[in-house]
Amino acid sequence: MAMNHPYTPPLVVGNHNGGSRILGAETDLKHIELECINCRTRIPMDKNIAGCPACGENILEARYELNKINVGEWLEQLRRRPQTLWRYREVLPLYDTDNIVTLGEGGTPLIKSHALAANLGLKNLYLKDERQSPTASFKDRQASVAISVLREMGVDSVVVASTGNVAISYAAYGARAGIKLLAFFPSLTPSDKMREAALYGAEVIKVTGTYDQTKELAGKFAKRQGVFLDRGIKSVAAIEAMKTLAYEIAEELGYLFFDSERWLSPDWFIQGVSGGMGPIGVGKGFREMYDFGLIDKMPALGLVQSSGCAPMVEAFNRHQRIATPIEDPTTVIATLATGNPGRAYELLYDYVHEYGGHFVSASDEEAFQAIRILARNDGVSVEPAVGVTFAGLFKMVQQGIIKPDDVVVVNCSGHSLPVETHILDSVWQRSLDLSQRSSTPELPKEGLLAALDRMDTQLRRVAVIEDNVDSARLIQRLLQARGAYDVQLAHNGEDGLRLIRAMEPDIVITDLMMPDVDGFAVIDAMKADPALATIPIVVVTAKELTARERAQLKDQVDLLLQKGSSIDEELVENLVHKFE
Ligand SMILES: *Cc1c(COP(=O)(O)O)cnc(C)c1O
Ligand SMILES: [Zn+2]
Repeated sequence: MAMNHPYTPPLVVGNHNGGSRILGAETDLKHIELECINCRTRIPMDKNIAGCPACGENILEARYELNKINVGEWLEQLRRRPQTLWRYREVLPLYDTDNIVTLGEGGTPLIKSHALAANLGLKNLYLKDERQSPTASFKDRQASVAISVLREMGVDSVVVASTGNVAISYAAYGARAGIKLLAFFPSLTPSDKMREAALYGAEVIKVTGTYDQTKELAGKFAKRQGVFLDRGIKSVAAIEAMKTLAYEIAEELGYLFFDSERWLSPDWFIQGVSGGMGPIGVGKGFREMYDFGLIDKMPALGLVQSSGCAPMVEAFNRHQRIATPIEDPTTVIATLATGNPGRAYELLYDYVHEYGGHFVSASDEEAFQAIRILARNDGVSVEPAVGVTFAGLFKMVQQGIIKPDDVVVVNCSGHSLPVETHILDSVWQRSLDLSQRSSTPELPKEGLLAALDRMDTQLRRVAVIEDNVDSARLIQRLLQARGAYDVQLAHNGEDGLRLIRAMEPDIVITDLMMPDVDGFAVIDAMKADPALATIPIVVVTAKELTARERAQLKDQVDLLLQKGSSIDEELVENLVHKFE
């Protein structure tokens, strides 16, 4: 298959079900053009689709003859159509509805948040639940549109580079369309995701390198093999597909708030961002609806990146319209590991400038914490990329950027797969595995993550003996936020010894000053018991120690940490560090 597959649109467009007609228009033939977002050159969709012929830009936007759509008639039709994204087919880049490849994507619920919203002080927080997509991420929208278009073009094999979800979706839809998929993954991709793509019959190629390097390699491969590389069409399909999110949100909010024909744009659309096609598409969707007169304002965009790979946020904070690529992303969240956003950032920057919004980053730890908070509050379990989204939401609310009365829609873009449901157990172990592969690109190597990497992986079960309940809980929370720690608490020396005997911890963290059986007594008892004598002990104390006490402890404990008036994050970091 040639790279620039010659493509002629069907002469007679199927209109057996009215789907390909432009409603209320004179002509039956839908006319689609592609516009370069850089130089604005327009090409018909029946020509070269690999990129802009004038400047080579990869991001192209579909343009329709929107003025030929009779909006009233269209709304009438919409009511009778099934809840997939193809109900908006008049504004999707396909000529013949016979070519639609569908698994029922789109039409996902807009769930109102109660508990989390209340905790955040938000009155109108909605979760756009894209987890309920056929392969559990919003990439199914993109795959359905892309594979349908490729089928219409007669393409029979495709190369994609993916951090997981795109390849899984393309593989599933490709299987239905009989289109062979060659999927290139960076090594950071969880292997379960690669395996799922393989299950659908994709050929899986794992690349030792970053996502950006993987994209480059996939491009070279496609060129050499003459296999169609989904690049130009990828951006067209992605933007057009993702904009259906906007249509669904506005339509549903309209029903919820007005109970009438009117549609409603939220004040905020929030998403975890990697390549940026989601929010770019959503922005285009709202723009089209605005032009149709269906909504009367454009939403602000809340764009959240993982702080280990946040080129957009960094550029935004420097008030720059061009992002500096991140060469070595240091996030374990592969889904958000686009180091070089290219022109996508400029589009989003311009959008935020014109209609409002904000860029913010969140760390992997904050993301995992947010996943637990969301799950416990609202019963919604999301993948790490969405944890980043919510961690960013929390920050924007705390900073007063998002107001209590704002109507906020968060894209819950993907479900946690089985491998990732063990947010506490497997994610950190997975990063250890990867870092041991000698030729793998550098993973996080600084601070706490590095310390955890180097730490004895057996050090997992922790007994904390601390009479101050808040301090004990804080240690527990801080440790658990850092990975696979099983942390059990006791609030006096006697319970502490019972706990140690029962759980046989890998390490004991104890206070000294406790009523009745104090820390000194606990340590003495442990040292006197051969079964417990070798367990490492960390003492965390606010007590001013005498010289004698100090000397005694020196022989018995592995680490002595002096706390101030309270235990804080720094202290725990210190603690973890000491076990390198
Ligand atoms: C791809 C993906 C993102 C990032 O989407 P972009 O709009 O391309 O930046 C976020 N979440 C999930 C689950 C994804 O699969
Ligand atoms: Zn161009």
